[in-house]
Amino acid sequence: MAELTTLSGDPFDRTAFESLLKRRLFYTESFEIYRTSGNLTGDSRGLYDYGPPGCALQSNIVDLWRKHFVLQEDMLELDCTILTPEEVFKTSGHVDKFEDWMCKDSKKGDFLRADHLIETVLEARLKGDKAARGLAVEVEKSDGTTKKRKGPKVNDIKAMKLDDAQVKEYEEILAKIDNYDGPELGALIEKYDIRNPDGNSPVLPPVPFNLMFKTTLGPSSASPGYLRPETAQGQFLNFKKLLEYNQNSMPFASASIGKSFRNEISPRSGLLRVREFLMAEIEHFVDPEGGKKHPKFGLVKDLQLSFLNRSTQLAGKTDLQTTSLADAVARGMVDNETLGYFLGRIYLFLLRIGVDKNKVRFRQHMANEMAHYATDCWDAELQTTYGWIECVGCADRSAYDLTVHSKKTAEPLVVREPRREPLKVEEWQIDINKAKLGPTFKKNAKAVETALTALSQAERESSAAALEKEGVISITVPNLPEKTEVSEDLISIVKRTRVENVREYIPNVIEPSFGIGRIFYSLLEHVYWHRPNDPARGVLSLPITVAPTKVLIVPLSTHPDFAPLTLAISETLRAQGISCRSDDSSASIGKRYARNDELGIPLGITVDFDSVKDGTITLRERDSTKQVRASQEDIFSAIKSLIDGRETWEDVFKRLPEFLGQSGDE
Ligand code: AMP
Repeated sequence: MAELTTLSGDPFDRTAFESLLKRRLFYTESFEIYRTSGNLTGDSRGLYDYGPPGCALQSNIVDLWRKHFVLQEDMLELDCTILTPEEVFKTSGHVDKFEDWMCKDSKKGDFLRADHLIETVLEARLKGDKAARGLAVEVEKSDGTTKKRKGPKVNDIKAMKLDDAQVKEYEEILAKIDNYDGPELGALIEKYDIRNPDGNSPVLPPVPFNLMFKTTLGPSSASPGYLRPETAQGQFLNFKKLLEYNQNSMPFASASIGKSFRNEISPRSGLLRVREFLMAEIEHFVDPEGGKKHPKFGLVKDLQLSFLNRSTQLAGKTDLQTTSLADAVARGMVDNETLGYFLGRIYLFLLRIGVDKNKVRFRQHMANEMAHYATDCWDAELQTTYGWIECVGCADRSAYDLTVHSKKTAEPLVVREPRREPLKVEEWQIDINKAKLGPTFKKNAKAVETALTALSQAERESSAAALEKEGVISITVPNLPEKTEVSEDLISIVKRTRVENVREYIPNVIEPSFGIGRIFYSLLEHVYWHRPNDPARGVLSLPITVAPTKVLIVPLSTHPDFAPLTLAISETLRAQGISCRSDDSSASIGKRYARNDELGIPLGITVDFDSVKDGTITLRERDSTKQVRASQEDIFSAIKSLIDGRETWEDVFKRLPEFLGQSGDE
């Protein structure tokens, strides 16, 4: 993989970047003072708190998500409970199958996720090979930086040459690492003598580990439950009510935003693999007949996306194909229009919040990798210094969930639609003479009746012939030891035509599932850069729509004359719902702008002596550092139109006079 650079083309220094995010309180590790004081001994990793700019950024991403999906697509939003009784997850398959493969270090007892262990070790060996061949390798130091280094002794990389066939083998395994099941992972560990890199001890064969957090509902252990690992089940269980709410009209989608919990075996990579995270999920219910067309596919069909399909990965490769959604669906690479439509909408959402379009790809799941409920799945992956990260999963869950819940509860989770043309069905029907059947079979009569009505069409046809010929049929009745004979005076079987005016079907579900924390982190990596004249401070070029704070107000100095105007500007902006922050410290104006660029604040107002005299103020744009000067009224209206997306900075810069006085940015 080519070395990742920032927006300004500099090598990406992750240590500096993450320290900015922590220093400016985008997020921080939970319970930190307990950890640093040595009061936490157990495993409390993978848990983070968001600070003020983090909360504002997250909430702006969620707000845009609601506008982009719930509002624009007319979805039905739900907020369901996190605590869920065990029965629900037994039925959904999560109790049996929502698991990862885990290995235990045979000496130290550490638990490791099997696929991640193999990945780490093989990647390290490939790096060792490169180092031995004198090639530059990307190294991650203990402080987290990734730098390209050359030479046989690069940090902890052991230079060791592999033969070419081995390199190819390792690369192929890595390309399809997500597709191996437990025994296959175990075989790889054995074949390649893969050990825990921390201490080099062998590991025990992989065992499945369920990722759900178990608890009890109420004080009694008789009511086990789980914290939900996805928001989806609540949406499925409310399907019937939602359909009614939607006046029985199909297709429609529900949506939900809320916390989910997964007991990750070994959380890593900061916000990317955590145990508690915010999800935004859509369940789009669609008629399985007619090829899952989508009425609005035309709106996205010409979007060019980068695809990494299943067959490329199974061939051990990672080459991307860039093509239009129309072509991807027409060729059957993306199974249907509805799935394609959502891939397009996901892509547009990611661009809207500021993700770099050159760092987005759509990767198809391989067969073994798919969740137990999915028949096809594409992930939107964002490129980061941690590699390509799955940020949105878009799965075709077919009719799986509605079918299993319906079977378990005997509640028909179906759509009933009047047929345009009545359907004529020729079928064998059984007429039962109940007045006689009851006295004949007494306490078993109900079971016999159920067994008769359960006969398939083929069985009915052969039974009709038997009745005709012999006057009696023999059937199997559950829980009765012998075959049961039913004579022609108790039943008749006749072929009739039934007219069906209503069509009944279980909808299929297309599910786009967003991990907000992963999107949050990846986005921040994408918008991070440095000004050439200030390598010590970063800039976050967040689009104004998601930026945590929209306007910075800086008085020229601490002169007391500036304070009333600074306060008045701040009050006016706040009254209009525009978030702002004043920095009236004694630092130079340039320094104050620079440290607030780290918060991604897109606009800055300077209050100077002219402002006090004639009421004019200047407006600075973060990325270009250009400024305009105008009356407060004009500047406020420009700010509003920038936030609402009615104007770009270029528009504002053209129509208001440029200010070339003190900018502090030189
Ligand atoms: P999945 O249901 O596994 O497809 O996950 C849906 C989305 O949730 C993924 O695309 C991720 O963005 C997010 N996600 C899953 N697991 C985690 C995790 N441990 N930490 C953070 N985000 C996660």
